[in-house]
Amino acid sequence: MRLIRINKEKCTGCGICVQVCPLGSISIVEDIAVISESCTLCGACVSGCLSNTIEIVGKKEKINLSEYRGVLVFGEQKAGLVSPIVYELIGEGRKLADTLGEELSCVILGNDVKKQARDLISYGVDKVFIYDVPCLASFRDDPYTDILIDLVKKIKPNIFLIGGTSIGRSLSPRIASKLKTGLTADCTGLKIDPETKLLLQTRPAFGGNIMATIKCPNNRPQMATVRYKIMKRAEKIQGYCGEVINMKFDKEMIRDRVKVKEIIEEEANVNIIESQLIVSGGNGLGKPEGFKLIYELASCLDGVVGASRVAVDKEWISYYHQIGLSGKTVRPKVYIACGISGSVQHLAGMSRSDTIIAINNDPSAPIFNVADIGLVGDLYEIIPELIKEIKKNKHGINNP
Ligand SMILES: Cc1cc2nc3c(=O)[nH]c(=O)nc-3n(C[C@H](O)[C@H](O)[C@H](O)COP(=O)(O)OP(=O)(O)OC[C@H]3O[C@@H](n4cnc5c(N)ncnc54)[C@H](O)[C@@H]3O)c2cc1C
Repeated sequence: MRLIRINKEKCTGCGICVQVCPLGSISIVEDIAVISESCTLCGACVSGCLSNTIEIVGKKEKINLSEYRGVLVFGEQKAGLVSPIVYELIGEGRKLADTLGEELSCVILGNDVKKQARDLISYGVDKVFIYDVPCLASFRDDPYTDILIDLVKKIKPNIFLIGGTSIGRSLSPRIASKLKTGLTADCTGLKIDPETKLLLQTRPAFGGNIMATIKCPNNRPQMATVRYKIMKRAEKIQGYCGEVINMKFDKEMIRDRVKVKEIIEEEANVNIIESQLIVSGGNGLGKPEGFKLIYELASCLDGVVGASRVAVDKEWISYYHQIGLSGKTVRPKVYIACGISGSVQHLAGMSRSDTIIAINNDPSAPIFNVADIGLVGDLYEIIPELIKEIKKNKHGINNP
């Protein structure tokens, strides 16, 4: 058991610990530092304290890192269909496992998922663990968390990858905190450090202005979530051999504090992420009506409409359409940015598109640094001309 202790005799109430605590767990009460229950014993205050007043006592539980081997991927499914993000995690997981010389496994919870489990093997998975019972058909926080923690304790994976979906975002912090390990959310890059063999987890930080690389040296598994459309999808490998393992679990784990009344799917979400052609509008539209033009261009090309955050913040279009760091990540064949400057946060969501076309009246706009085709000029002059030409030829990119 570890405890944090403040020597009241020595504490000067200087407040440095309050400033360095990343969780806001310390306050100064009557000139003495007081630590609240939200403290995670990270130790930032211990090293920050100039008068050596704060100490962590007790032994830190040491885990045997060498017991942890292999890469595990959470095989998220909805209505029995494996989510597309899983194939991307498998593609990335396979590379990590090969670099480490370890196995790649996958876990699926659901009802009647044996066929899906067998199919995953053909993407290069060595083992698929399945929990196949009707009560796990749809995602539920408590049982899914407890079962996955139980699996991790049994198979001890070195790395655990989960999709940065709404399900993954609910599940991963619960699992990480109960296992007392680290979690890096929304990674854009994963690789193995050739010297330490640790997982290097890269993600945008400070509003996307820097890329941070995070390591988890002392705890296992090393956990990361990755958003959809960031990594390359795994290809089928003909004749790949793997094993499907039926897992048993304690019925106690089926407890649930939450009752799901109804699941409502948001079609708009799926369409934008999956679309091969996106026409996005930004602040350069100048007014909400500008989106009529964006919709018209998108419709001529059989595409869908995206937006920058400024356009969403101004309520010209709903959040469903937002592309970028705090919106959706997309990877269409063609992305047309209209009146969008190309901030790092917007690029974080679309720079992996195959072809980027930018329409902007400022030739020095950063969007032109990533654009394959740049049209400099007023979008209200360029887009109607484009629509006229496309209609004349009547062949959209999605409909050749
Ligand atoms: C933590 C954080 C998360 C964020 N997440 C996101 C995110 O997910 N997505 C996102 O988009 N942003 C995000 N942002 C905001 C981001 O920093 C920018 O503010 C935003 O992307 C700018 O939107 P914009 O390009 O539409 O607007 P602006 O930067 O105002 O650019 C408008 C562009 O339109 C051009 N223009 C003006 N009039 C015309 C015209 N008539 N014809 C042609 N061009 C014209 C201008 O030259 C300019 O380049 C985030 C910021 C932070 C701090």
